[in-house]
Amino acid sequence: MKIYDIVFIGSGLSSSVTLYNILSKIRDNSVLNKGVNIAVVEKNDEFWKGIAYGNRASVHSLTINPVKDFFLEEEKPVFFQWLEKIRSGDQGTITAQEKEVLDDWILSYSDKLDQGNVDGVYIPRFLYGVYLAQKLEKIIAECKANNLANVDLISGEVINAVKQDKNQYTVEIKSVEERFFIRTNVLVLSIGGLDINHTNGNSSNHFLNIDDIYYPTLDVTLNKIDVALTLLPQPLRNILIIGSNASASEMVYLLNKRNKVNQDSFNKIVILSNSGLPDRLVVNSDYDHILMHLRDLEEKENYSADALMDAIEKDVKNAIDNQLSAGNILYSLNERFFKIQKKLSDIEALKFFRVHGWSYTRITRRTSESYYIAEAELIKTGKLHFLKGRFVKLCDEQNNNGGLNFTYEASDTVIEKEYSGAFPIIINCTGSEHITNTSTTLIKNLISKQIVKINENGMGLAVDENFAANNNLYIMGPLLAGIYTKNYKFWHLENAKRLNSLASALSDIIFSKIVCPV
Ligand SMILES: Cc1cc2nc3c(=O)[nH]c(=O)nc-3n(C[C@H](O)[C@H](O)[C@H](O)COP(=O)(O)OP(=O)(O)OC[C@H]3O[C@@H](n4cnc5c(N)ncnc54)[C@H](O)[C@@H]3O)c2cc1C
Repeated sequence: MKIYDIVFIGSGLSSSVTLYNILSKIRDNSVLNKGVNIAVVEKNDEFWKGIAYGNRASVHSLTINPVKDFFLEEEKPVFFQWLEKIRSGDQGTITAQEKEVLDDWILSYSDKLDQGNVDGVYIPRFLYGVYLAQKLEKIIAECKANNLANVDLISGEVINAVKQDKNQYTVEIKSVEERFFIRTNVLVLSIGGLDINHTNGNSSNHFLNIDDIYYPTLDVTLNKIDVALTLLPQPLRNILIIGSNASASEMVYLLNKRNKVNQDSFNKIVILSNSGLPDRLVVNSDYDHILMHLRDLEEKENYSADALMDAIEKDVKNAIDNQLSAGNILYSLNERFFKIQKKLSDIEALKFFRVHGWSYTRITRRTSESYYIAEAELIKTGKLHFLKGRFVKLCDEQNNNGGLNFTYEASDTVIEKEYSGAFPIIINCTGSEHITNTSTTLIKNLISKQIVKINENGMGLAVDENFAANNNLYIMGPLLAGIYTKNYKFWHLENAKRLNSLASALSDIIFSKIVCPV
């Protein structure tokens, strides 16, 4: 069995950034007297890009946050210098389709790019993926050429990891052809977020039921939708999207692109969500005047976590009553929130973190500007409707050629209502499953053998100050949600900028470990 110094499970942004930083340190410090053996195991056919920035997303997908919220300050000039090289013709591994999309994007933003006025710009996600992959490939080749490190890329799904003597781990991998094992001194679990929350929408009456828009890829999903739509008469080309998370916005944006080419491609889309509103992040907008309840609270000497959450909810409701979404007021809300929460006592701060943090994230979801524009265009033509309510189930019996039932929340009363309309195409965008009910084999195995534990917040895996869930086993990525250590307190962890900064901290820890193993 091959023994490695470090094994990464998963090769999205989290492991790419951690590995890149480790290799940079190995290259720049001549403290090691032997080459470091590293393996990266990835179940998808593509390394370094993960779900968000690779071929599982669409080449047309944009970042959901503008540059100023996406990049670390130190990373921004590096990325844009790299982009300048691409603009001047050094296109490396960019495919013909990516080039076409990139040329259009550069044309739309050429003034801003030329002036370096990029903070409010949303970049094509594939571009960040290409950037990551090129960085990794270059440094791996450099380290290999100088006998500093060797990185094996292993295709397969890790289904189990068992702790051995000397705090090593045996890692079980399932590939297309076989099951096999490798062993490692340091294991990094960077497998992304939890699996999606599967809806109970498996009614046989429905023509097409999409549970996970990124499986196997977003392009495959869009092709399935295209095929289904063309088989339906125009009045029945209706799509129900359950949930209004970032995936829902992405789906609407991509469907709108098709609608521009063919106005009849679909009849209408209905998005059923708790807010019943589209979300938009307006960069640098000032909506502080909407935040009356938070302002009143700030005047008080002290207050509880419950009172803070109550004020937030009232202010968001106030925004919604004024036809603004949580995305509209996000910058102002965050600014005031961060000031106010500093005044919470330690006990109340912990309570806010554990009890309310996740709700705060949920009600302040946002989407990128182009996505919002797509939503606005479709609303104007009557092709997109937002419905406030919580999904319950699909009808067993078809009504009006395929109606559906859902719970509709009106003035605090929960009334089950039936929406009359035919929805032969249903898309699940309700977000991720809960870690306590995870369907992911590897996490289930690790939890059941007590190699990792669910954190107190119940949103991710418990780690110490060094991101370690067990001896020599480190976690990086969205599974750190709920981390509450001296240096890091996050109830939600998906943002690329935050993950970049945590991955960089982890690389210091792992580098020290391989320089000086204990
Ligand atoms: C569609 C999408 C769009 C997003 N857009 C943005 C954005 O615009 N801005 C932003 O800040 N954040 C965005 N995010 C948040 C995102 O979580 C982070 O930006 C980041 O990509 C997370 O990287 P990761 O490496 O932790 O996870 P992932 O990108 O999910 O990578 C994990 C990798 O591990 C592999 N894997 C999983 N399990 C196993 C296993 N058992 N064995 C082997 N391999 C395994 C997966 O195939 C995957 O490639 C987006 C997320 C998604 C899903």
